[in-house]
Amino acid sequence: MSVAFIRPNPPRLSELGAELRAIEDSRMFSNFGPVNTRFEQDMVARMFAGSGQCMTVCNATIGLMLAMQQAIGGRPTKPRYALMPSFTFAAAAQAAMWCGLTPLFCDIDPATWAASPQDEERLLALYGDEIAVVVPYATFGFDIDLDRYERLAAQYKVPVVVDAAASLGTVSVDGRGFGSGFSGTVVFSMHATKAFSTGEAGIVYSADEERIHDLRQMCNFGFGEARSATMLGLNGKLSEIGALLCQQQLNGFEGAMARRSEIMARYRQALPDFTFQPRRIGAQAHQFGVGLLPKGYGPYRREFQAALTAAGIGNAAYFSPHLAQQRHFAEHAVFGALPVTNDVASRVISLPMFDTMTEAELDEVVTVVQDKFSILAESHLAAVHWPWGSMAAD
Ligand SMILES: *Cc1c(COP(=O)(O)O)cnc(C)c1O
Repeated sequence: MSVAFIRPNPPRLSELGAELRAIEDSRMFSNFGPVNTRFEQDMVARMFAGSGQCMTVCNATIGLMLAMQQAIGGRPTKPRYALMPSFTFAAAAQAAMWCGLTPLFCDIDPATWAASPQDEERLLALYGDEIAVVVPYATFGFDIDLDRYERLAAQYKVPVVVDAAASLGTVSVDGRGFGSGFSGTVVFSMHATKAFSTGEAGIVYSADEERIHDLRQMCNFGFGEARSATMLGLNGKLSEIGALLCQQQLNGFEGAMARRSEIMARYRQALPDFTFQPRRIGAQAHQFGVGLLPKGYGPYRREFQAALTAAGIGNAAYFSPHLAQQRHFAEHAVFGALPVTNDVASRVISLPMFDTMTEAELDEVVTVVQDKFSILAESHLAAVHWPWGSMAAD
């Protein structure tokens, strides 16, 4: 039996004939129409405990660009930095560069794999107001401490834009959806590959309603007045059909979250040699089953992945290479030694995860992963104890 790595499961547009006809009859196809408005209101009520405001965008990368540009208040006057972890997806660093900022990479925390608080504060102290924006990543949907970022923003007078691309569905310790009440900007993705899967779409949230008001104008060509630009802008709007998919996904999302939590719980229980992110009260939206191979196993990760692939188990290694290891960012970003990032990226493995994964598929994955891991562990132990092993074999 072969098992896919991910199998996107957005709502089925082909089954939404009546809703599509209603959009056609309304003659509203975009521009924050009625389907979009209702979805935004439902999101605030159901995901953000009724606090703050949110705005849809065509995807999270455009959302990050808008959020960073809004946070820095127009064009930067000199080269300035966007402080972010290197252990993330390319989107945040690309968005910063489109805003004229230079990505400045910090190291990550060895347990959460999110930006290291110590390294962030070291760089904030070192670079001062040359840092235009701090861009933490809520790693794989992990509930990072946003109260700390509120304090950091006040202490260093620096705006914070959270890349929460994989976090829709994450519930924080206070029982509210991740991001609720945060006065900075939080950007979520609803890309086909996320737990909250549509196709291409994103959400920008803030507890600061003024901020969302500004962002909505920036997202619509910078039109602060009717058809008259008053600020830098672009077109980042979501179509009504896109919003319909989002609404449908929201309506059925609890089942997807529950299945993903079960799959992750099984991985944690069945793979005691792997290291996973810490468990939190609340819930974590899981995009894939992410774990680390034991210390020292980095050099074997490629071999391990190849063995899984050969056995028909889809897999990946997000985020390896991490950003500082990608040519474009190696050339244009600023960073020092990133020992924890290098270690985590060398050992990380992403296992299959999808809403429709059956028990038989999950059993198959667990069996193959355990089997391939024990083969790997045996050869690793042999290599550790007998560094002259090839001579001994002669
Ligand atoms: C998926 C992802 C993005 C990009 O989201 P899009 O909606 O595809 O633009 C950004 N950052 C991270 C960490 C992601 O995982």
